[in-house]
Amino acid sequence: MPTFKFPPPEPDESPANCRRCDLWAGATQAVCGSGPTNALIMLVGEQPGEEEDERGEPFVGPAGTLLARALHQAGLAREQVFITHAVKHFKWMARGKRRIQKTPTQAEVAACEVWLEQELVAVRPRVVVALGATAYRALTGQQRGFAEARASRVLERSGAALVVTWHPSAALRVPSVEMRRAIYDDIVAALRRAAAQAGMAPSSGEIAAPSASELPTDN
Ligand code: SF4
Repeated sequence: MPTFKFPPPEPDESPANCRRCDLWAGATQAVCGSGPTNALIMLVGEQPGEEEDERGEPFVGPAGTLLARALHQAGLAREQVFITHAVKHFKWMARGKRRIQKTPTQAEVAACEVWLEQELVAVRPRVVVALGATAYRALTGQQRGFAEARASRVLERSGAALVVTWHPSAALRVPSVEMRRAIYDDIVAALRRAAAQAGMAPSSGEIAAPSASELPTDN
């Protein structure tokens, strides 16, 4: 379990009024986790994107669309899982009129750890799925080893099984159709492992894999 570098939250403190790092200043609002608080599986991404920042909900942009499809294909409903991010405020840089997502620093991830930990304690999932390297680092405290962790079948985090895979946005960024497919398939396989580890039977809603041309792009 990672060691806290920051004090625990004050009783009146929440992500909405948190000032533990500077990311709140450029964001519209804090985006906390959503889903059933008795969920057996918790998915952890990196940080909110632009659409999530505006709507206040995690994974509602293009990456969320891809994640919903992967969940469905793995036999899981989005409503069955708790979905959150390692960092609760949107970090971005301006490119023309657009706000482009920028990877949070290790200090920002560490500052936000108290809120992720609070969600882990509240939900107590059987399985945590780290979506991407930032989530992996936030959940393990390890700066290296994402590739090896992804190849491992199941690790452990605070009594919960830990499954590691790509962030869905990785499948939106790579130009190669083959790489998009490989990343998407890795995410589906990880979600299936998570469901099996959590003891959840696949729902009857399991669907076929999308064709390469059906995989969304962020263009
Ligand atoms: S990103 Fe996290 S630590 Fe930083 S201000 Fe927002 S809630 Fe606080």
